[in-house]
Amino acid sequence: MEENEWMVEMISNEAGLSPDIVRSLVKKKIDEFPSLTENAALKMVATEKGVVPVKKKFKISDINEDIKHLNIVATIQRKFEPRKIMIKGSPSTISNLALKDDTGIINAVIWDTKKVDQIQKDALVGDIISIANAYTRKSFDGEHYEIHLGTNSAIKINRSAPKLEMKQVEGKIDRVSEVTDTPRKYTVRGFMTRLFTNNIFLIRCNICKKRVVNTCDEHGDKAISRTLMISGILDDGMSSIKVSFFDRVADKLLSLSKAEELDDKINDLSFGLYEIDVTGIPNKFNDVISLNARDIRPTKYSL
Ligand SMILES: [Zn+2]
Repeated sequence: MEENEWMVEMISNEAGLSPDIVRSLVKKKIDEFPSLTENAALKMVATEKGVVPVKKKFKISDINEDIKHLNIVATIQRKFEPRKIMIKGSPSTISNLALKDDTGIINAVIWDTKKVDQIQKDALVGDIISIANAYTRKSFDGEHYEIHLGTNSAIKINRSAPKLEMKQVEGKIDRVSEVTDTPRKYTVRGFMTRLFTNNIFLIRCNICKKRVVNTCDEHGDKAISRTLMISGILDDGMSSIKVSFFDRVADKLLSLSKAEELDDKINDLSFGLYEIDVTGIPNKFNDVISLNARDIRPTKYSL
């Protein structure tokens, strides 16, 4: 098949447009930019539709050199908060994604504010992202390659289509943004991005029910109880919420990490090494909603 026809077919299939519509979009491009060849116009239309306009699709394990035009389809494994930086003296926003496919994991850096916003708004952990016209570069430490996306790159985020289905094993998963103070059980899924570990034990006097430092001024150590209490921030890739874990649930949280030492476990957890499902009850304080965890389990995926 002639390449241009092949591309019309590919754009048509992947973007869900009829071949005639694709041809009319190409014609519009050429009307707009008369010096474009049909092939170049096709590539522009493909890029705009988030379609990878070349036959070669890279796998993550192929990325071990500088690639100027990289097209890849991968699963979003983690989504990091955007950061403000200065580029050539003007403020800009960049963000990072950890991407994975069946051959490995790679870091992606998004340099284009529009795409950073789109990813913040539309992409969830577990979504498939199609990337066209990115490039690769060695990481800052020179240890491995990273994918870079600039203004000339295109992305398409895919939640439905043929993809690694992130179907939860049981029950419905609520988005963090859906948690309100309506008293019901919510189950959210995400990474712990921060743990507050100053006061791991909640110490109370059970006679006056007060929180104390070591002993009660009035009742001494007669009825002191120590409750394991951990709180942290859970991030589902779109938004985050404070979650508090007490007693048995806190034990369970710590036991998700295999390390022996409490400090190591807390470190592992706060570095976001474990994706967890948390079922909890909302708690509103000063207009801020948090969750009191009732149960927790490591996230399991069925493919
Ligand atoms: Zn007391």
